[in-house]
Amino acid sequence: MSTVVAVSPAIVVTGPSGAGKGTLIRAILERIPELEVAISATTRPQRPGEENGREYWFLTDEEFSARVEEGAFLEWVEYVSHKRYGTLRSEIDRIAAHGRVCVLELETDGALHVQAEVPGACTIFIAADVEELERRLRERATESTGEIGERIAIARHQLEQAHRFRYMVRNDDLTRASEVLAAIVERELVLAGTMLHR
Ligand code: ADP
Ligand code: 5GP
Repeated sequence: MSTVVAVSPAIVVTGPSGAGKGTLIRAILERIPELEVAISATTRPQRPGEENGREYWFLTDEEFSARVEEGAFLEWVEYVSHKRYGTLRSEIDRIAAHGRVCVLELETDGALHVQAEVPGACTIFIAADVEELERRLRERATESTGEIGERIAIARHQLEQAHRFRYMVRNDDLTRASEVLAAIVERELVLAGTMLHR
């Protein structure tokens, strides 16, 4: 039996809004107990059913700016409707203290930043056709029509960036995409010495 080495690469899941990042992350968390999701901070409004400290830390603009000033973020971006999103260094430290591997769900600029700055970061782009993204966002119905349009315009640009990440998984069939994503993450953890061969 080999021993677990304390190496904690970050797993970065990126791609356009509606690609299924959140859905796929929930699927792999159930299968890979070494993983823990970093809770980002955001200034976007809380959606029905979301809890502060579970999906996000929901901050006011003033609170977010104060955290930027303190250097609390590994990265942060402005996304749709001038709302800000950022990865808190404290979340990375909290997950490392648990001896777990951090999962970050980021839009593409933040993911490219982490890929460049964090040694060993494993970046995985989740892709789907634009028409399918639009259909899913309308069905999810968590944003206004105007905001869905803004997300789709950004998505077209993001899909052109897929080749810049280490892996790309097309999320057409959810079961297949979950299997493939889990296989990639398990393999990366074995290579980094974070997970025993199972
Ligand atoms: P993201 O986190 O990338 O914005 P979500 O995980 O919220 O995307 O998924 C967007 C919507 O699409 C959700 O309603 C989700 O249930 C649905 N969805 C995710 N994957 C698939 C899939 N493979 N086929 C059909 N619908 C999907
Ligand atoms: P949503 O508003 O749908 O929750 O998220 C919008 C986008 O912001 C998604 O693509 C999500 O992955 C991204 N996002 C969430 N948290 C962060 C973060 O901390 N940093 C960056 N760069 N993007 C984030």
